[in-house]
Amino acid sequence: MNWILFLDLDGTFWDHLDVSETTPPFERISQYAIRDRNGETLTIQPGVLDFLNWIKKNGGLTSTCSWNKPEMALSALRKLGVENMFDYQRISPEPRKDLLIQDLMDKLEEKGVMIPQKNVFYLDDRDLHMPDIRRTLPDINFLHMWKVVSDYSEARDIIKRTLKL
Ligand SMILES: [Mg+2]
Repeated sequence: MNWILFLDLDGTFWDHLDVSETTPPFERISQYAIRDRNGETLTIQPGVLDFLNWIKKNGGLTSTCSWNKPEMALSALRKLGVENMFDYQRISPEPRKDLLIQDLMDKLEEKGVMIPQKNVFYLDDRDLHMPDIRRTLPDINFLHMWKVVSDYSEARDIIKRTLKL
């Protein structure tokens, strides 16, 4: 079974709300945290790395899905040593996450990887992209982090239930 997770970065994968506004270079200050030139810190959210590992073990694909300056977000991911936790990177300065998701779905389809919308999970701390997403991808699963879904273990349980894993 093919399935995929699209993960927002700001406020979802890490605690910082806008990595595009930070000032590189970053310095690693712990296993889960980096600091920019002005001393601003960015920390990976609890449980998210285990969650991504669980997805890989259960045959899922993973992609970022982030509205940011790509070079900023990628340099933070690299400094944290987690760039390779994602099979794909979809990071764009344009606020059209529906297009980011559709673009990767199209690329996968060209490679013969067909993923039904009901096997697509999109996790975000904000729901502002949902009107666009619902227009093109009405049946994907949106998990509203910290609002409807309280943490990554609950996100894992929802996916388990939905896919009957
Ligand atoms: Mg966010």
